[in-house]
Amino acid sequence: MPQPPQLIDPFARAITYLRVSVTDRCDLRCFYCMSEHMTFLPKKELLTLEELDRLCSAFVSMGVQKLRITGGEPLVRKGIMNFFDAMSRHLATGALKELTLTTNATQLAKFAQPLWDSGVRRVNVSLDTLDEANFADITRWGKFQQVMDGIDAADKVGMKVKINAVALKGTNDHEVHNMVRWCGERGFDLTFIEVMPMGDMGELDRLDQYWSLKDVRKTLEQEWTLSDIPLNTGGPATYVQVAETGGRIGFITPLTHNFCESCNRVRLTCTGQLYMCLGQEDDADLRQVLRTNPDDDRPLYQAIENAIARKPKGHDFDYSRQTVVGQVSRHMSHTGG
Ligand code: SF4
Repeated sequence: MPQPPQLIDPFARAITYLRVSVTDRCDLRCFYCMSEHMTFLPKKELLTLEELDRLCSAFVSMGVQKLRITGGEPLVRKGIMNFFDAMSRHLATGALKELTLTTNATQLAKFAQPLWDSGVRRVNVSLDTLDEANFADITRWGKFQQVMDGIDAADKVGMKVKINAVALKGTNDHEVHNMVRWCGERGFDLTFIEVMPMGDMGELDRLDQYWSLKDVRKTLEQEWTLSDIPLNTGGPATYVQVAETGGRIGFITPLTHNFCESCNRVRLTCTGQLYMCLGQEDDADLRQVLRTNPDDDRPLYQAIENAIARKPKGHDFDYSRQTVVGQVSRHMSHTGG
């Protein structure tokens, strides 16, 4: 079979990073991500693990070198370790450079060793607070110790742990110094993320939650000596070094510093929709192509290539005029960030 085409978008950006949401379900209900009473997708709408394998393997053969598994919460998907094991074959051939995941760590104590065995070396843990009571408020019903045990398990098997915290005004702004201190002590990277206008959150106004990372950095510099470092992990974050702890802090700034010019990623949902941009509504239905061509991948390659040819320049998120511009209708949990 001729080598399938490599993925270059209309702005000459090479697409080498695929984020795959394997489920829309989650065992937490973070108030800025999901409403308390969510209606989840019926099973038949979800791609099977075999279909996810076929789709992701097609992307790997088209030049994708990094696979990030997300959700909802990916580790609540039944049989998920079979999928990680299946993807590890691409690590063995060298076609895939990195297999990783973003998790809330509630299930990590159980899965840390099997994930390590399937080739996962780095894990991003979504954690916005180190305060047990605040954790219960943010997640609506989360068990803080379960998450701490999960993080300890990943650290123990040797995974590089990175903490991803959404900067939320009035929710965790009083905790940022503590998070820097704790991550420094544990040797974990820490990344702060600006809240994005994803999904209709009813009464909740994104502007009330929004805390620009420019202001977060100013707050941090009241206590820490930060110096910019040219670290690139293949994602959108820019990094600083903390002199006092030796730790690194990343800033993901969709609102204050647009990073779309170097975008290298697309997102696949658990129903096989490909979103070419997190900040736009356009998508391509790959499930239909997959299911109507069970034994031939060429239509799939063509559908992926057509979708990448429609990849937009970037998002239109903007809060600068004290109003939310560029809102996207789907929840963040639909694509897993
Ligand atoms: S908003 Fe869209 S173009 Fe910008 S970095 Fe994210 S996915 Fe890429």
